[in-house]
Amino acid sequence: LDAVAQTDQDVYDIIRAEEERQANTIRLIASENYTSRAVLQATGSVLTNKYSEGYPGRRYYEGQDFTDAVENLARDRGKELFGAEHVNVQPYSGSPANLAAYYALCDVGDSVLGMGLPFGGHLTHGWKVNFSGRFYDAHHYGVDKETHLIDYDEVRRVAKEVKPKVIFCGASAYPRTIDFERFAEIAEEVGAKLVADIAHISGLVAAGVHPSPVPVADVVSSTTHKTLRGPRGGLLMCKEEYAKDIDRAVFPALQGGPHMHAIAALAIAFKEALQPDFKDYAAQIVSNARAMADAFNERGFDLVSGGTDNHLLLVDVTGRGSTGKIASTAMAKAGIVCNANSIPFDERSPFDPSGIRIGTPSVTTRGMKEDEMRQIVAWTDEAIANADDDAVLERIRGEVEELCGEFPVP
Ligand code: PLP
Repeated sequence: LDAVAQTDQDVYDIIRAEEERQANTIRLIASENYTSRAVLQATGSVLTNKYSEGYPGRRYYEGQDFTDAVENLARDRGKELFGAEHVNVQPYSGSPANLAAYYALCDVGDSVLGMGLPFGGHLTHGWKVNFSGRFYDAHHYGVDKETHLIDYDEVRRVAKEVKPKVIFCGASAYPRTIDFERFAEIAEEVGAKLVADIAHISGLVAAGVHPSPVPVADVVSSTTHKTLRGPRGGLLMCKEEYAKDIDRAVFPALQGGPHMHAIAALAIAFKEALQPDFKDYAAQIVSNARAMADAFNERGFDLVSGGTDNHLLLVDVTGRGSTGKIASTAMAKAGIVCNANSIPFDERSPFDPSGIRIGTPSVTTRGMKEDEMRQIVAWTDEAIANADDDAVLERIRGEVEELCGEFPVP
């Protein structure tokens, strides 16, 4: 960062401070990760200087030999990694990828069906404050009140009633395996197209530790920066029959020039995810989440659905006399960073909900394993119990920093 330091000391100081924060805290935000240095370097490369509207071999400006080469690499590796017929690597992020999926598969005003935000769905799955809830006639399914699992019979019932053109499955806060085949059956039964949004779990899907929707969904969307551990970006995969519609939806319908520096970094992330050790990484993410779930259960916490099958867990903290906001603020003071999160059928406000969401992708990238997960849960328990005792939180923070020192950021 020598040039940044010379040109702009203010920005340099901010970046260095954030670097330190990421190194010295335990990051449990389920949607975050640490990319490799190779991915970071490609993100800061000269590819940021190039305009390349269009697709490889069909661009609007000259000088595309190397942008074509890198986009083709990313597309080919994406196809290999996910076994997809067609891959578009141009979406700027997960939300634009979902917007493109709607654009390709239905018209404004059409009925669409997705998981409700309060049950773990994403804003772009039809929530009222989002474009998807404004442009489309959006309907929702949730989870069962007792089990907290998706009730597929209920999804089918709602789908038959609202006759959606598009069904979205996938979530931001659902700790269990998603049965994509059942969603595909329901979509077929009601004549809807199925979009599987695997933003959170794409790394697990790539590694084979979560079932893949690629064979059964019409379109699969994803971010690239969560469990997949790539640069910030978005991704669309589809059957060949939708390839043209998807490509046209991304460009020229919704976006202009692709971010080639991000696409180059994504090509690297795909290469990394194709290595055998990525499978071990993804399996460890899940083992770590399970170890945390067991530790919380042993300490008498209430977990949504009782546990986890993937990289995240939702902990109801109200049984400990706390709230999501109080707990996450106390934990942050202690150097353990997560987010407050609604739990299914939450009676509290989304600004101070009943739960916290905890994810293991980042700590697993640092090499932490089950023993460290149990220690983190012990600190979390102590922080929540002593939310207004700054001395205790400060002491935990010191211990957290020591652990972070033993597991440096790659
Ligand atoms: N889809 C899901 C399931 C997500 O969890 C997210 C982000 O958290 C997105 C889409 C949107 O991704 P982005 O924040 O990159 O727009």
